[in-house]
Amino acid sequence: MRKPTELEELAARPAPGADEVAGTFVREPHDQLASESDYERVMANLSFGVDFTDYMAHATWTADKGWHNKRIEPYGPLTLDPAGAVLHYGQETFEGMKAYRHDDGSIWTFRPTYNAARINMSNRRLAIPEISREDYLASIVDLVRADARWVPSDEGTSLYLRPFVFASESFLGVRAASRYEYLVIASPSGAYFKNGLQPIDLWVDRTYHRAGPGGMGDVKTGGNYASSLLPKVRAAEAGFDEVLFLDAATNTNLDELGGMNVFVVMADGSVKTPALTGNILPGGTRSSIIQFLEAEGVNVSEETISLQSVLDGLDSGDVAEMFACGTAAVVTPIGRLASEDFDVAVPVGEKTKQIYEELTAIQLGHAEDRFGWLYKIADA
Ligand SMILES: *Cc1c(COP(=O)(O)O)cnc(C)c1O
Repeated sequence: MRKPTELEELAARPAPGADEVAGTFVREPHDQLASESDYERVMANLSFGVDFTDYMAHATWTADKGWHNKRIEPYGPLTLDPAGAVLHYGQETFEGMKAYRHDDGSIWTFRPTYNAARINMSNRRLAIPEISREDYLASIVDLVRADARWVPSDEGTSLYLRPFVFASESFLGVRAASRYEYLVIASPSGAYFKNGLQPIDLWVDRTYHRAGPGGMGDVKTGGNYASSLLPKVRAAEAGFDEVLFLDAATNTNLDELGGMNVFVVMADGSVKTPALTGNILPGGTRSSIIQFLEAEGVNVSEETISLQSVLDGLDSGDVAEMFACGTAAVVTPIGRLASEDFDVAVPVGEKTKQIYEELTAIQLGHAEDRFGWLYKIADA
């Protein structure tokens, strides 16, 4: 049996329920709630990460007060001094979660303690003060309760939640800042990829890497995304949907996509994913898929996966399917792999679809929550 990761162990510790943490972030008055017509326009035409809700959660950290002024305030622009440290040195971390509406109208989220543990792992790496998991949970609960009308109910829709922290001290010297802001914003969202389980085409990049040994590849910080954007632009120009990055040390093994982990389904039914080497983001979706597949008796291995072995396996038929996964896009089949010297189709099959369906069934309360991953935010 696989040994749980540190994040999985931290996530499994008993957590306070929503009612126990509710009210930590104090709701401020709001005199400009979205009008009924704006609300209806947004909810009738859900995109991803475009429209935002009425409120946001916000707290500030200073050395003398720690995290304080925890509030739910009207969503809107921030005021930031042009010398604000994040604008110059990128001291920032973030998370991505979703709130789902179940059939009975109640609102839930998925493994929030995993994200709470992970934002603190990211914060430690970027010399940002940690946030208690109680405060983290409270920010989610208080924001979603204030914005409950924005949690959509159709299949495949959710309220996407984006917690983030950034250095707000006005200072150009290079050191960890002495002031930080923590916010959570929320976006009612439809499917991340418009075409649902439509396969995506990947460009395997041999020129650029998103992260290297000793860098920040295993934590969630904007800098990793910044380094993935030029390769993504170039891939898009060549007609590809996303980039598959190789490891920076040898340029031969699969790491991950710019924002999703990757899995290989073998013809013998076993499943592989790159091991967490320190350059790969430990996705909660990745962790969940590994755990439920293992519980079903599937042989799942976390190992070094060379690009060559994947190309050979596609050629011989040993590799049956490939997919990418993450909170935003859930599970997405990979339909093509290409680089300067190869261009191969990846078969799209049932296993990827099955995994997508199993995961979403748990998240939507349609399957038994045997791992205790669901967290109730609010009653109907
Ligand atoms: C967030 C992220 C993922 C997916 O993580 P989930 O917890 O499954 O959403 C994968 N790779 C990178 C680089 C990420 O930032």
